[in-house]
Amino acid sequence: DCKRKEDELGEKRTRDGCRSKKVKMMMDADSLIKKLCVWCRQPSGQWELGTIQSTSGEEVSVSLSNGNVIKVARSEFVPANPKIFEGVDDLMKLGYLNEPSVLHNIKLRYSQDMIYTKAGRVLIAVNPFKDLQIFGNDHVSAYRQKLTNSPHVFAVAEEAFTEMMRDEANQSIIISGESGSGKTETAKIVMQYLAALGGSNRDIEDKILQTNHVLEAFGNAKTSRNENSSRFGKLMEIHFSTMGKIYGAKVQTFLLEKSRVVQLASSERSYHIFYQLCAGSSFGLKERLNLRAASYYKYLNQSECLMIDGIDDAKKFHQLMKALDIVQICKEDRELIFTVLAAILWLGNISFKVADSENHIEVLDDEAVTSAARLMGCSTQALKAALCNQKIQSEKDTNAKKLILQQAIHTRDKIATFMYENLFNWIVDQVNKSLQVGKKHTGKSINILDINGFESFQKNSFEQFCINYANERLQQHLIRHLFKYEQEDYESDGIEWTRIDFKDNQECLNLFEKKSHSLLSLLDEESNLPKASDLTFANKLKQHLGTNPCFKGERGRAFSVRHYEGEVLYDTNGFLEKNRDTMASDSIQFLASCKCELLPLFSKTFYQSLKCSNSLSTGALDSQEQSVCQKFKGQLFNLMNQLECTTPHFIRSIRPNTKQLPDIYDEGLVLQQLKCSGILEVVRISRAGYPTRMTHQEFCTRYGFLLSETNKSQDPLSTSTDSLELKRKQVLQGTVVLQKYFRGYQARSYFQELKSGVA
Ligand code: ATP
Ligand code: MG
Repeated sequence: DCKRKEDELGEKRTRDGCRSKKVKMMMDADSLIKKLCVWCRQPSGQWELGTIQSTSGEEVSVSLSNGNVIKVARSEFVPANPKIFEGVDDLMKLGYLNEPSVLHNIKLRYSQDMIYTKAGRVLIAVNPFKDLQIFGNDHVSAYRQKLTNSPHVFAVAEEAFTEMMRDEANQSIIISGESGSGKTETAKIVMQYLAALGGSNRDIEDKILQTNHVLEAFGNAKTSRNENSSRFGKLMEIHFSTMGKIYGAKVQTFLLEKSRVVQLASSERSYHIFYQLCAGSSFGLKERLNLRAASYYKYLNQSECLMIDGIDDAKKFHQLMKALDIVQICKEDRELIFTVLAAILWLGNISFKVADSENHIEVLDDEAVTSAARLMGCSTQALKAALCNQKIQSEKDTNAKKLILQQAIHTRDKIATFMYENLFNWIVDQVNKSLQVGKKHTGKSINILDINGFESFQKNSFEQFCINYANERLQQHLIRHLFKYEQEDYESDGIEWTRIDFKDNQECLNLFEKKSHSLLSLLDEESNLPKASDLTFANKLKQHLGTNPCFKGERGRAFSVRHYEGEVLYDTNGFLEKNRDTMASDSIQFLASCKCELLPLFSKTFYQSLKCSNSLSTGALDSQEQSVCQKFKGQLFNLMNQLECTTPHFIRSIRPNTKQLPDIYDEGLVLQQLKCSGILEVVRISRAGYPTRMTHQEFCTRYGFLLSETNKSQDPLSTSTDSLELKRKQVLQGTVVLQKYFRGYQARSYFQELKSGVA
């Protein structure tokens, strides 16, 4: 009854805007408020369910579900939904839309293994951390044949496919969420569905699905948050013919975290492939690569974490070999890949000793240097020289300068990371060659975006800075589509609309990317100065951004950013070096001279992209060189432009606990994620707004057929007005079954729209 009254009042609100007064009057009426089920906020911040027993002034007595009776201020409780709204599959259906009701609803569904809930236009996916058996072929068919409409990733994929075919428009499925929330798994589920329904031959389906195995082996690693964390961003485009059959795909990757190859945080691992290779390679391959156990290699054993519970690296290696086969990476190329990987591992074991009084070093003559040189295809002497000397080019001649320990280690690690990054990119290129089976792109595509999720560790470096910047960009895309465009549309169309407030991250985004005096511009400015250091960079930030509300200067080299997901403390140590990312030209020339085929290829690619520095001592960027963040910003802008030309579908994945275990639901953690993503506001907008928006042209194309030929005018506006008029009449006469033309809520709301229009 209470709900009905609120609804009536709610409707009135849109007409005369006096809702708050009326509701207050209603809430003040003690007769109504008694027996009302409410959520009370506890001092701990948690919400408890109870029933109002009595009221006195600004306080009410509430009997809690555990039997206790407590006194609560009116500001500390909100109405709870009646039982019939328990566990609704779309938050839009909740009678009362408030924080505890949303939390309770998602929690209840999660406890019953219903991990998906709609929140208006967004699908919420809570990571189950267990196999739910809801992704089989029977489920695919059920969604394909529209036998079910319960929320599911398959439903989102089906909607994208249907809209692509119907509207002849490219679609995107944008998956966002924290690290470990399930984005990559969700992306794979989307691909599985699309492959099942759009595959004309098993060949391309298989290739698309196996691509994930390959990319995960080379681009995923165990972090403290996720045992299979993607350390790169990925956009998978699946191309369909005009008949809706898949004829090709393309994968784009963004910003691989290459520093992981040489440097690991405690309890984390490097890229899976290294452990898989050590554990699973055949006897012959081991011999050829002189390969030892993973524990033998410094790049891998530094973090004292070599295994992942329940994961058999050898088995994974065998699966990878099959996947490589399917994506047509031939035996010879595989051998080359493994050779580069083994060379990297041996490079990491190379050590140095001090050779003179000036602390210049020389390479220790041991198995590491001979193995690395053999695998790279150069003489031990050439490798030693590349690691210990640096050529200084003067106008007249070239001199060799000896390096000290720190410089030599730096050079060695730079060569190793360079080899790995290029190997990764090369593999992506090979995969793309095999995915583009169709010749000409005639149809449309569905793009699936899975970038590495927002990260906040105790120590956050340049990598987290870039990842979190990308997440801010993506969040802005979401905000534009879910809040800004929608409300602007209503306003520009003159529809009566009470603006709904939402948390905009534009200010934080400006902090990153404004043309001048932003985090990125100042980082680039500093990277161009030879004498600059991480400390001068930190000071510059404090000097120019100190008053920005999203920025906070911290002690020493640190600073904090107030991201939409929360505040993150960054340590600028290594920022300039990682942003410049220059390779000494000596190292590039050395790689060009190696016999292992891939290495000269990598140096050629590098020369083409021109990021080679002559000087190790200054390290500053030349004017024609692009910094890492400049390049990344460019990539992100291109990505956003690409996504802007698509119809978006949003999936927000949620991490229910930090333990990566099933059946544990940490309310605080979930609430924080829901708040950051603005889910409540999304539901409010979806509930208050119009679910269907079409241009006159689209309307005319879709419904013009309802008019007889003679009625049809050339002009979309009059055609759509005519169609609408005709449709109204037909609705009133009951001659049109709307469900035939519209689906689900679209039909209902349109029906209401028509009815009120006629009235
Ligand atoms: P990152 O940003 O670190 O890459 P992510 O959001 O991509 O994280 P995933 O790697 O997709 O997270 O998921 C983490 C783990 O959660 C998976 O390895 C898997 O164990 C589990 N998981 C995720 N989604 C599902 C699902 N639908 N069913 C079962 N387990 C899942
Ligand atoms: Mg991932």
